[in-house]
Parts: sequence; C-alpha cells; structure tokens
Amino acid sequence: MQKTFHCRISTTSERVCVFGTGDMGRSLGLRLLQAGYGVVFGSRRPHSSSSLIPHGAQVLGHAAASQSAHLIFIAVQREHYDFLVPLANQLKGKVLVDLSNNLRKNQYPEANAEYLQSLVPGAEVVKGFNTLSAWSLQNGPSDANRQVYICGESVEAKQAVIAVAIKLGFSALDQGFLSVARELEDFPLQLFPQWRLPLRIAIGLSAAFFFYLLIRDIIYAYVTQSKDISFRIMVSLANKVCPIVSLIMLSLCYLPGVLASFLQLYRGTKYRRFPDWLDRWMLCRKQLGLLALGFAFLHVLYTLIIPIRYYVRFKATEQNRTTQFDTTTAWRGDSYLSLGILGFGLYVLLGITSLPSVINTLSWREFSFIQSKLGHLTLLLCTAHTYLYGWNRFLSSSTYKWYTPPGYMLCLVLPSVVLLLKLLLITPCVDRTITRIRQGWERGADQRNPKDSQPLIP
Ligand code: NAP
Repeated sequence: MQKTFHCRISTTSERVCVFGTGDMGRSLGLRLLQAGYGVVFGSRRPHSSSSLIPHGAQVLGHAAASQSAHLIFIAVQREHYDFLVPLANQLKGKVLVDLSNNLRKNQYPEANAEYLQSLVPGAEVVKGFNTLSAWSLQNGPSDANRQVYICGESVEAKQAVIAVAIKLGFSALDQGFLSVARELEDFPLQLFPQWRLPLRIAIGLSAAFFFYLLIRDIIYAYVTQSKDISFRIMVSLANKVCPIVSLIMLSLCYLPGVLASFLQLYRGTKYRRFPDWLDRWMLCRKQLGLLALGFAFLHVLYTLIIPIRYYVRFKATEQNRTTQFDTTTAWRGDSYLSLGILGFGLYVLLGITSLPSVINTLSWREFSFIQSKLGHLTLLLCTAHTYLYGWNRFLSSSTYKWYTPPGYMLCLVLPSVVLLLKLLLITPCVDRTITRIRQGWERGADQRNPKDSQPLIP
C-alpha cells in the first residue's frame, strides 16, 4: 500500500493542483511556481480565469485538473464544497489540502476539513496552510510568518503536504489527526487571546487609580481649599497612575510563581495540577510584564518632561526664597532617582529577554536567571524606589486626605507581600524542600518507601 503511494508521488510530485483561482489560490499557485512546482488550476470557468492566473500555470476544468496531480489544494470557500461531490470518483486516493477558514467560531457543526472528508470519503484530507494569508504567501519566503500547521488521518498524505510546505520555505508542524482541524480553523479567528486578561487588569487598575487619585488630589483641593488644580490631570495624575499600575502589574507577574511554590510545598508534590485559574495566570505573565514595562516607560517619559511644564517653571520663579541645603533630603532624592533608573534598566532587560528571537539564543539557565532572579531584583528596586518616594510621609497625618492613603502607599502592598513571600521561599530550609519537590520528591512516598527517606530539614 505504502509502495503504491510512493510510486504515485514520485511520478507526479512536481505537479500540484489548486482548485479555485481566487486570492488564496493565485497566491499559493505563484509561490508553488516559484518553488519549482508545475501548477494546474482547477476552475469553474477555465477560459475566463486564465488571464488572472500566474504566468507559467495551466487552468483546466476541475475534473481535468484533478487528473494531472496527486496533491490538490482546495482554495474554495466551504459553502461551495458541494461541487466536489460529482468528482468523488476522480478524487479517490488523492491528497486534498483543505485551506478554508470560517468567519466565526462554531459557524458549522463540524470542522470544514471533516466536512470535506465526508463529501469525498475516498480521498485523504489534510488540513493545512489555512493560518497563512494570501498576502503573506505572495510576500515570498522573506515573510516572517514561517509556520504551517497541518493535521490529518493519513501519515503519508501529511508527509506529502509537509514536503511541499518545506519546499515553499515553511516549517510544518504536524498537529495530529483530523479531529484537530477545528482548532486550526479557529486559529486565525483568535484576537490576542493571551493579552485579554492582562489588558483587562491594566485597564481596570488604571481606571480605579485614576478615579481614586482624582478624588484625593483634585476634588479634595477644590472642596476643602476652593482651588482649581484640574490641569494636573494631564501630567501629574497620569504620572502617578502609570508607576502605580506598573508596580502592581510587575508584582502580578511574580505572585503566581510564589503561590505555585507554596502550593507545591503544601501538597508535598509537583505531580498535582495547579488550579485552572493559577495555570491561566502563569500563562499570561509575559503579557503582564510587557504591559508593566509599557506603564514604566510612560512614567519615565512623564518624569522627563516635568522641568518644561509651565506650572513647574512658574513655581520655580515664584519661590525665590533661599533654603538651607539638607544632606538627608539630597541623599533621599538621589537614592530615589538612582533606584528608579536601575529598576527601569532591569525592566527593559526583562522585556528584551521575553522576545522569542532573544529567548532562542539563551539557555534555560540563562533565561530563568534573568526572568526569575533579575526579575525579583527589578521588583525589589522598584518597590524600594516607591518607598523612598514616600519617605517619612507615611507617618504624617496630612498625607491621609479624607482618611485615605495616597496611591503609592496602596500600590506598595502587593509588591511587599510578594517580596516577603519570596524571601520566605529562599530561606535555606524552605528552598531545599521546594528544590527536592521540583526534582520529583513526594512527601507521601517517604512512608511508602523508607529507603528513599531523607530528612529535609536536618
Ligand atoms: P476568493 O478570492 O473568493 O476565491 C474563491 C474561489 O473559489 C473563486 O475564485 C472561485 O474560483 C472558487 N469558487 C467560488 N464559488 C465557487 C463555486 N460555487 N464552486 C466552485 N468554486 C467556486 O476566496 P479566497 O480568499 O481565495 O479564499 C479561498 C479559500 O481559502 C477560503 O476557504 C478561505 O477561507 C481560505 N483562506 C483564504 C485566505 C486569504 O488570505 N484569502 C487565507 C487563508 C485561507 P474559480 O472562479 O476559478 O472557480
């Protein structure tokens, strides 16, 4: 059976057929021609379509075209697949590549590829190439999109499609059987799935802190002193919201890892699944971190423009009184700025090392050193930067307008908790236990097999 297949492929492998002369069919045909394949298009109107197709390709009716190749790409919308039913006999034994996508998820009861297989049961249907766009195919091998996902029942049919994909300059990923087709069809319909939760958190935090600070800073001044300082919304308020959101989101990057460690310690094993919410949270840490970096970047920009603000220049000329130099204040100010700069520098490093092209150049140890060790150091520096900003104002009652703490105090809660928990985890006795658990040790197993038992905390 396998032998017959190889024979057929070897005689016709350089010729492929594309049903449909639309955008996708033409782009694919062009790329196939560029890769050295002979291309035959199958069209409803071969004569009128011939002027549209790439130079060097042939256009025939569907039945005639299908005879000229073993591999047929179906670049036609699913709604029109019934034109294949009368061709079922001619298509027996052929490899049909289903390129189709839908307009929305669950548009049809079954996947398009499964539907195609049911219409042409004698053919070997392979789902593939649907995650590429006609535009990226036309762009040629220089296009950044280099992955082709495929699935299907027949290993040989998938190999034939993989061979074409590789020749076109793609790397092909076999996703398994045809039952995966629906997932592949949903793939182009995804809208930033991993960014949704981080974006919601960022928007929620920004809105909450904006209104909190609006009441505390602007409305408070208006109500108690009849002062209109609403102009501060644009820069001062924004420059308070950005670092607050940034620090909280950076803590949210490191909190799930810490929680997961405590869960493993509590359970005494790493072989039990984390709850779904923790899994989902851990999966979006990169996006949380990148958004946190974005807010930190805005904070830097807002801070840099402070000296050119009209309000600041006006205040500077108004206050021409001489004050005595205070070394403590100078130390505090310089330390505050320096920690902020160092924290931001490491923040940027974390952002850069989360790029796939950079990750690929790092060993696992290098990656985890930067993302975990330097990541926690970044959190520590940014937290210390915020504590120095507060300095002794934590103790002054005038800080608590309408009995509410300032935003920077609120935002210190989470990073302080994360850093304290992390400190607990790196104490030698806890660290030893967690390291053993991660190496496969299980608490209950000691009693079951006393030979394995070693004291964890001597
Ligand atoms: P299109 O431009 O509308 O072309 C579809 C082609 O299908 C037509 O040119 C026509 O070719 C053929 N066709 C139309 N009605 C037919 C019928 N009743 N019976 C038989 N054939 C018919 O669409 P497209 O953008 O190329 O997309 C084609 C397929 O590729 C779709 O399933 C789409 O989901 C998928 N896809 C497209 C892209 C993209 O970027 N465009 C990306 C990924 C996947 P003839 O006139 O020559 O018969």
